[in-house]
Amino acid sequence: MSERIFLSAPHMGGEEIKYIQHAFDENWIAPLGPNVNGFEEDIQKYNSIPYAAALSSGTAAIHLALIILGVKKDDVVLASSFTFSATINPIVYQLAEPVLIDSEEETWNMDPELLEKSIKEYIAKGKKPKAIIFVHLYGMPGKIQEVKAISEKYEIPLIEDAAEALGSKLDGKPLGTFGDFGVYSFNGNKIITTSGGGALVSENKDWIDKARFLATQARDAAPHYQHSEIGYNYRMSNIAAGIGRGQMKVLNQWIENRRSNHDFYEKELKSLGFDFLYENDSAFSNRWLTCVLFSRVSNKEPEELRQDLEKYNIETRPLWKPMHLQPIFKNSKAYLSGVSEKLFQKGLCLPSSSSLTNEQKDLIIEKIKVFCK
Ligand SMILES: *Cc1c(COP(=O)(O)O)cnc(C)c1O
Repeated sequence: MSERIFLSAPHMGGEEIKYIQHAFDENWIAPLGPNVNGFEEDIQKYNSIPYAAALSSGTAAIHLALIILGVKKDDVVLASSFTFSATINPIVYQLAEPVLIDSEEETWNMDPELLEKSIKEYIAKGKKPKAIIFVHLYGMPGKIQEVKAISEKYEIPLIEDAAEALGSKLDGKPLGTFGDFGVYSFNGNKIITTSGGGALVSENKDWIDKARFLATQARDAAPHYQHSEIGYNYRMSNIAAGIGRGQMKVLNQWIENRRSNHDFYEKELKSLGFDFLYENDSAFSNRWLTCVLFSRVSNKEPEELRQDLEKYNIETRPLWKPMHLQPIFKNSKAYLSGVSEKLFQKGLCLPSSSSLTNEQKDLIIEKIKVFCK
C-alpha cells in the first residue's frame, strides 16, 4: 500500500529547527523567551495589527477573549453553528449560553440576517447578547463587513475566529483584524503549525496585556506569588514559538500551494458534477481545505467516496457537523436556514496539504474518476 495521503499534514519549511536550536543553546525552555516575542511580532507584522499574544491554543484565545469581554454565567453569546466545537466550548466554560446562527449559501459562513434577527429577539426579551463569535470556515472570508456593522449598530463586541483563515483577506484586509478580537490557531492540521498553539490579536493594547496576564496565572506585581484574579496557564512555550517563527517564513508559499491544490481539483472535478466553494471578487481565501459538494453527482454519496478512497490510504473527511446537530448542544437555541445541514450532508473535504505532490494529486483524481464511473 502506498504511503498515506493525509487531509492536512504539518509541513516544515526547514528554518524551524534553527529557532529551536537557539532556544536550547540559550536554555529558554519555558513559556516565555525570545521566540515567543519574535513570533508575536511576526503575527503582528503579517496581519498589520498592533498587538498579538501567543497562546497554547486557539481555544485558549477564544476563552480569554470572552473573559476579557466580561462574559459570565447565563450571558448569551451568538456564534456560528457551522464550525468546529472549539468555537463554542469556551462559551460553556464561562457558564454562558451559546446561541447558534446558521450559514448563508454564498460563503458558508454566518448569515448576517439571521444574526440580526436573533439580536432583535434577545433584546426584546431583555437579554442583550454579550458577544458575537464569527467563524471564517475553511479559510473563506464570510460576510464580516455586514456582521461588523451589526456589531457596531447594537454595540455587541465581535470575536473573529480566524483559526482556519490565517492569510485570507477581504478587500485586502487580513481576516482576524475586522473584529474587536481576532483568533488564530497553529494546531497540527492548520495552514501553519507550532505543533499546538494559538494567538489572540487586537488593536486594543490593554486587552492584549490583560490576555498575557491571565495566560500566565494572573500574577500581581509582587516579589511573592500574589493573585487578585483567577488565572490560566495558556501561554505558548518558547519551543513551540520557535517552530512558529520558521513557519511564518513559508506561510505565503504554503497558501499558494493550497490554492493551487484547490484550482487543480476544480479543473479536474467540476465536469464530473462536483461543486466548490467559490471566491467572490473581494475575497482571497487561503484555501486551507478544499471541499467538494456532490450537488450534481447522481446516485453517489460523499460517505461512499470517503470509504472508497480510504481503501487506497487516502484520507478525506466530511464537512464540519453543525453545532446545532451535535448531541451536546441539542438543547441550545439555534437560528436556522438549513444551509449548514445541507452542506454537511453533501460535502467532503479532500486532501489539501501544502506538501501534496503532483503524483499524489494525480492518484486522487484517478481514484475519484473511477469511483464516479
Ligand atoms: C482549530 C479551530 C479552533 C481551535 O483551535 P485550537 O488551536 O485547536 O484550539 C477554533 N475554531 C476553529 C474554527 C478551528 O478550526
